[in-house]
Amino acid sequence: MSLLTEHDWKGSIFTGEWHGGGGGTQSVVEPASGSTLAEVGLADPRDVADAARSAAEAQKEWAATIPSERAAVLRRAGILFQKHADEVIDWVIREAGSIPAKAGIEAASAAEECFEASALPSHPHGQVLPSNVDHWSISRRRPAGVVAVISPFNFPLVLSIRSVAPALALGNAVLLKPDPRTTVSGGVIIARIFEEAGLPAGVLQLLPGGADVGAALIEAPEVRVISFTGSTPAGRKVGESAARHLKRAHLELGGNNAMIVLPGADVAKAASAGAFGSWLHQGQICMTTGRHLVHESLYEEYVALLAEKASHLPVGDPASGQVALGPIIDSRQLERIDGIVQRTVAQGGTLAAGGTHEGLFYKPTVLSGLTPEMEAWSEEIFGPVAPVIPFSTLDEAVDIVSRSPFALSLSILGDVGQAMTLADRIDSGKIHINEQTVADEANAPFGGAGDSGTGSRFGGAEANIEAFTETQWLTVRSEIAPYPF
Ligand code: NAD
Repeated sequence: MSLLTEHDWKGSIFTGEWHGGGGGTQSVVEPASGSTLAEVGLADPRDVADAARSAAEAQKEWAATIPSERAAVLRRAGILFQKHADEVIDWVIREAGSIPAKAGIEAASAAEECFEASALPSHPHGQVLPSNVDHWSISRRRPAGVVAVISPFNFPLVLSIRSVAPALALGNAVLLKPDPRTTVSGGVIIARIFEEAGLPAGVLQLLPGGADVGAALIEAPEVRVISFTGSTPAGRKVGESAARHLKRAHLELGGNNAMIVLPGADVAKAASAGAFGSWLHQGQICMTTGRHLVHESLYEEYVALLAEKASHLPVGDPASGQVALGPIIDSRQLERIDGIVQRTVAQGGTLAAGGTHEGLFYKPTVLSGLTPEMEAWSEEIFGPVAPVIPFSTLDEAVDIVSRSPFALSLSILGDVGQAMTLADRIDSGKIHINEQTVADEANAPFGGAGDSGTGSRFGGAEANIEAFTETQWLTVRSEIAPYPF
């Protein structure tokens, strides 16, 4: 049986059963062709309030379910992601404008996230503490309760499931709100997988919608933890509201990730890494290589090699399977990208390649002759644009990289000794030596510093238990303690 074609999820939200939402419906538009792929249901703030109440009820029983049963649901979900990989990949290609290789990474990672999470129910959840008092003293982790997951359009499946799977495994209920442009890849697929995997009704609910639905999730009294992945401006609003309502918010936000190419590095391999880092998924990844800092001895050759690659990489409909870059998600994003490129050229930057588009298909672009103050260097572009700047000393490289308020991912290519020295001097949530900036693994702690997040991490038992549980101190005596009163 297929996951989506033989099931009537269309036009519905999911609260344990599929039904119409208060927000009506919305078309899913394929960015590559402009055609409508389906209608999805939309929730409204009232649906959110109802869902939060019913999720809190369902969560109690789910948290009391024995660990091996919770683990089994997660394992079945992982197997279902593998079984339905072709259908999942097709949706991620068409709805999110992903090339097949990127869509394949999402499907495989989704399965991996579930398998990794399936180990959490039986993972030790606490410590026995030494005590100077005559009692047993235990620090233990309990489910947070109801967790809201708000995710973006770019890696819709992975950025939802990386929170949904561990939060469920640890005994929470989850209210999922994907980006409205990728409701199927970031929401419907996950709800259907867990429905088939036998997750009890109400424990995972899908509430598609825009910022109003997201805001209602944060305000719902039953929601205790918010997992938000998206832009820094939206993250600030989420963080402000969460603080007002005394909720814990894990914010995974924007980036402007640097790649440093050290003197003596293999420049052809470096340009290949730089091209992949900047242009995979049209540069619409939080970890995209947004700043190429190349030693002056290699700079001209590097720019020429990158521009050469840009002029040869095919751009078009990813469903053809014949292109390296697909479309930008929508015209608003495209206009923003093009605006930054054109203003940077007007400020004196040089267009070494690209800078043009046909419809939503933006050519891979290389900008040289920049200063660190120019917009294309200082802003997160979230498009297929590779700005390149030369440096002469390592001190200068550290200074230029560290000027950005973002600190999500850093790549350093070349001599490992020099790279390790730099890694000790630059703040970044993750650093990849002799790899480009885009990397994620289900068991690795993922997250940024500075304006890239609040310092929380997702991935791996330690980070996920920290993110999706509350700590409780429990003391026990064999008899009622004596007191002087
Ligand atoms: P966005 O912030 O506009 O939207 C992300 C999600 O938040 C969507 O579901 C949206 O509906 C919701 N949202 C928006 N405003 C909200 C509000 N006030 N309250 C509650 N929910 C709200 O993000 P975008 O621009 O579409 O996505 C791209 C951004 O996400 C980039 O900045 C990128 O770097 C970042 N991102 C970060 C990571 C990470 O892990 N650090 C991963 C992917 C993307």
